[in-house]
Amino acid sequence: MIRFERVTKRYPDGTTAVDDLSLDVAEGELVTLVGPSGCGKTTTMKMVNRLVEPTSGRVLLDGEDVAASDPVRLRRRIGYVIQQVGLFPHRTVLDNTATVPTLLGASKAAARRRAAELLDLVGLDPAVHGGRYPDQLSGGQRQRVGVARALAADPPVLLMDEPFGAVDPVVREHLQNEFLRLQSEVRKTVLFVTHDIEEAVRLGDRIAVYGAGRVEQLDSPARILGAP
Ligand code: ADP
Ligand code: ADP
Repeated sequence: MIRFERVTKRYPDGTTAVDDLSLDVAEGELVTLVGPSGCGKTTTMKMVNRLVEPTSGRVLLDGEDVAASDPVRLRRRIGYVIQQVGLFPHRTVLDNTATVPTLLGASKAAARRRAAELLDLVGLDPAVHGGRYPDQLSGGQRQRVGVARALAADPPVLLMDEPFGAVDPVVREHLQNEFLRLQSEVRKTVLFVTHDIEEAVRLGDRIAVYGAGRVEQLDSPARILGAP
């Protein structure tokens, strides 16, 4: 589904953020990218939706070189959730979630119905939280809206960059559990960036352990934890 073929990214200032990376992510697989800050995880992820272009090598989505894909069409197939999700402050939670389906041509009523389903799916009550504005939610709830909004276009691929990084540990564990339950239902192909090895092991079907621009180990949770 997602294939990195000998991908290198060197920024104009000479920093090599990603160094000769090859990685395959299967359809419906959740791969966590874990490692210390600055080792190239975010750069890796941004090369999938063309927020960053590789210096050399190719990134393929469903066999198609993303460099040859129209960015707008590409991003329709890829949901993106970041640490501080940017919700529209003057739109309600329901409208924030319904925006993308509306842009894609759904009727307002259908988009709102879908948005309500998605809010429910991420553990928010559409009747209670749907009418609130983003600043009337807790941090954890805002991140849930970010996930619901990313799912609204029903993209086959999700890119998640420390989506639960800005909430306290108890809320984070809650969000992780909900996300695992959600993923068991929707089965997206997911790249999930975190610097927290526990989170990586908990969520990942496979874990890519990064060090300075390279994947140093790529393995199942059991093997990362040292099971024989
Ligand atoms: P991580 O997500 O693991 O924290 P990043 O991919 O954000 O790592 O960064 C990898 C390296 O690339 C770091 O040294 C970072 O400073 C550098 N870097 C990231 N973005 C840019 C940029 N736009 N210009 C120059 N260097 C960058
Ligand atoms: P979560 O586990 O989703 O992060 P919290 O435990 O942080 O939720 O919040 C618990 C309750 O407090 C929620 O029902 C939420 O609606 C409410 N709440 C948190 N912050 C605010 C706020 N700034 N304005 C209104 N309600 C809030």
